[in-house]
Amino acid sequence: MRSVQVGAMEIWPLSDGTFRLDGGAMFGVVPKTLWAPRVAVDADNRIPLGLTPLLVRTGGKNVLIDAGIGDKLSPKARTIYCVDQKMSLDRSLAAIGLGADDIDVVLATHLHFDHAGGFTRMIDGRPVPRFRRARHLIRRGEWDDAMAPNERTRASYQPDNYAPLAEASLVDFIDADGEVLPGISVWRTGGHTPHHQVVRFDSEGRTGLFLADLVPTAAHLPDAWGMGYDLAPLETMVAKKHWLRMAVDGEYVIFFEHDPAIQAGRIIVVDGTRRVEPLPD
Ligand SMILES: [Zn+2]
Repeated sequence: MRSVQVGAMEIWPLSDGTFRLDGGAMFGVVPKTLWAPRVAVDADNRIPLGLTPLLVRTGGKNVLIDAGIGDKLSPKARTIYCVDQKMSLDRSLAAIGLGADDIDVVLATHLHFDHAGGFTRMIDGRPVPRFRRARHLIRRGEWDDAMAPNERTRASYQPDNYAPLAEASLVDFIDADGEVLPGISVWRTGGHTPHHQVVRFDSEGRTGLFLADLVPTAAHLPDAWGMGYDLAPLETMVAKKHWLRMAVDGEYVIFFEHDPAIQAGRIIVVDGTRRVEPLPD
């Protein structure tokens, strides 16, 4: 595992393992004949996805952004999602010399189970906060939606992943876009969920961008290649155009949360088509 430098900021793409989701759901209205050649689709039509939270050190604090799928899923759910945790968040934190109690701040892009699952763990049959010393920064609108899921959102919002944080008074709510920690800012995109946000890193004139589920993998770079999971696909498209234009023009380092192979890169446009370029060594 190696870190990525954005100005003076050191950013570690971590891993909570891999899982699989239905390829059709991952590509929305895009026909399988177009997406299948770009991914490794299995006999059950599922495609492999990474779980790539980030660890950033800023202002003397260890900041974790999202926490993967965690270890609370039932055996049945682990089979459905084909969860493979030969690598896990605990192990990848340990690889850079950190334990759960070294995390000072946890920042959530949104509260779906594959991003917030690692916020809590089971002790004696009860979900408890995993990062007991950390303040958890969560968008208030996302929190409200996640605490009152409806028929469409219930499969993704599982209160065991986040309700214990409020019970332990570990949550600080975010109400607006902008800087939340030195050099780290959040920007609401909507689309995937109404209060889904991307995270921007600014240091010494360089910019990094954690795309979360706005652009989950490098295969989702074309404007209309959105996920069937998105609650407002047209909002996703508008936000994607905006942020990818900024990323190309500003030569941002971009971070993918679900790409099975590419954690970070730069986006370039070749003959009108966006591509990911590896970062120089
Ligand atoms: Zn996700």
